[in-house]
Amino acid sequence: MSEQAKGKSIEEKQYLLRFNAATESHLHVLSADTCMTKCPDKLCTIFCPAEVYKWEEIRMHVGYEGCHECGSCRIGCPHENIKWEYPKGGHGIVFRLG
Ligand code: SF4
Ligand code: SF4
Repeated sequence: MSEQAKGKSIEEKQYLLRFNAATESHLHVLSADTCMTKCPDKLCTIFCPAEVYKWEEIRMHVGYEGCHECGSCRIGCPHENIKWEYPKGGHGIVFRLG
């Protein structure tokens, strides 16, 4: 297996999904304190299908580059603690399913 193919998902290998990541995140967790004190189950780490959110002891790591833009975190966070915008034009996920 080539170095380039290692660690890629099936969809990426088939070119069904491609990412053109922006340099700035389109996702922002507004308050780590809210996550820490009011959200014991860290729900975004469960409902996000792309595993963008990873809790790191006192803060939320947001791997925005892998976001599928499904919009779930806009409604899934019980404390409205995630600011979500579409990535800037030309960036984000590219679907090739047609
Ligand atoms: S679901 Fe909302 S409040 Fe809970 S950990 Fe994620 S961002 Fe924080
Ligand atoms: S929009 Fe969907 S894929 Fe992107 S971070 Fe939110 S839940 Fe995860």
